Amino acid sequence: PVRVRFAPSPTGPLHIGGVRTALFNYLFAKKYNGTFVLRIEDTDQNRYVEGAEDYIKEALDWCNIPYDEGPGREGEYGPYRQSERKNRYRKYAEKLILNGAAYYAFDTPEELDAARKKAEGNKQTFIYNHKNRDEFKNSLTLSQEEVDQRISAGDDYVIRFKPELKMLGMFDEIRKGIEIDTSLLDDKVLFKSDGMPTYHLANVVDDHEMEITHVIRGEEWLPSMALHVLLYESFGWTAPKFAHLPLILKPTGKGKLSKRDGDKMGFSVFPLDWVDPKSGEKSSGFREDGFLPEAMVNILAFLGWNPGTDQEIFTQDELVSAFNLDKVNSSGAKYDPEKAKWFQQQWFVQQDDAVVGAAFAKALQAKDISYPSQEYVDTVCGLVKERAVFVDDLFDLSLFFFVAPSEYDVKNVKKCWKDDTGEIMTQVAELIENSEVETATEYADLVKGWIKDQDMGFGKVMMPLRLSLVGSLMGPDVFEIASMIGKDETVDRIKKAVS
Ligand code: GLU
Repeated sequence: PVRVRFAPSPTGPLHIGGVRTALFNYLFAKKYNGTFVLRIEDTDQNRYVEGAEDYIKEALDWCNIPYDEGPGREGEYGPYRQSERKNRYRKYAEKLILNGAAYYAFDTPEELDAARKKAEGNKQTFIYNHKNRDEFKNSLTLSQEEVDQRISAGDDYVIRFKPELKMLGMFDEIRKGIEIDTSLLDDKVLFKSDGMPTYHLANVVDDHEMEITHVIRGEEWLPSMALHVLLYESFGWTAPKFAHLPLILKPTGKGKLSKRDGDKMGFSVFPLDWVDPKSGEKSSGFREDGFLPEAMVNILAFLGWNPGTDQEIFTQDELVSAFNLDKVNSSGAKYDPEKAKWFQQQWFVQQDDAVVGAAFAKALQAKDISYPSQEYVDTVCGLVKERAVFVDDLFDLSLFFFVAPSEYDVKNVKKCWKDDTGEIMTQVAELIENSEVETATEYADLVKGWIKDQDMGFGKVMMPLRLSLVGSLMGPDVFEIASMIGKDETVDRIKKAVS
């Protein structure tokens, strides 16, 4: 059975790249009736950020990417926070020492720093590996007695991996065959002096213990794949399949998309708002910008994947059936904020009037704008939502349904308010006042009939009428507006415009 995991480190808010990874794992799991696991990789205590785990859960929840197993949803493979699995890792590191794939290293930070400086002096980057490991103090160079004695004396040590030297052939589901010369790798630390595993050890051990079948993650982890594959080999375990998702690029296509791009160009790169607990720095999120979760999922799905057809609007269920790792590109995916808005708009118009209406009613309340009933708000939304992208756009598109215009668009006044307009509109106001009209059709029949009887051009009445009711020349059908705001209000607005 397919088991996949999303394994974020709680170091801050989730970037859209992170949510995209979660989504692709989720879609893959659902497609194969598998299990989607959330694992919190919090072994690096220096990078731990308060509130980040809650943020991750809330973001997944908002995007409708539920996990089957994870913190709070315990399954057979828990606990799902690495800090709570802490005691499991040492024995694995020691197992590798026993079979010769790892060793103790006693080098102090000062000694390593000196080695680093020396390499830099020779214009080289320092790496600790097969070429120089015998110059250091480790269990490969010290005698067994000295190693035992240092350990029992409580000296600080780390456990380093000793990669087997060879040409390593690997397979990535997206990038296909890859070959790596392992002599270029360094002897990565697997276990730290603080008693915690590093990311690499914990990640591989947990993926094995949790019986993960497919590791689907961002391309930034591709350079770690060789080490991970070697670790599986050294443990004698079958490695999961790997799929590295393409980078998400800036709108220009040049370089990785970062928070700064969003800040600079005014779009979000996070699902939710986030305030950094240390710096107080704020990042804005899709949710608070007014995006719908359905749109967000649709936007994310197309960052590196495409269905191979023209279809662009997908529900989550449709994505589950269409999704396939074969259709994930290996080249970077440009993030286009305009396209993101387009997805949002497509989803926005599809919402039921009552759903949009409920959201808009809340927004109206927040601005202290009163409305006759929820039904009224819903109907207004139905009339104007096609032109909106976000709930907030509804204010501009429909404010006149709630409040009489307080000013009139000067350019339009010039255009349609002529010398005789005042007189004509006074008559129109009286005409309406003395009638029993209610529906838009009744208004239309009444006013249009009257215009015909007067032998007048339609524009002479229609444009000033719209200007009186709306304040500008935009908006849906003018008789629809009149019928919505009601006879008294219609008459009042015309009279006010005349005066
Ligand atoms: N903890 C890693 C991260 O924060 C997980 C990488 C992986 O999926 O292996 O991205």
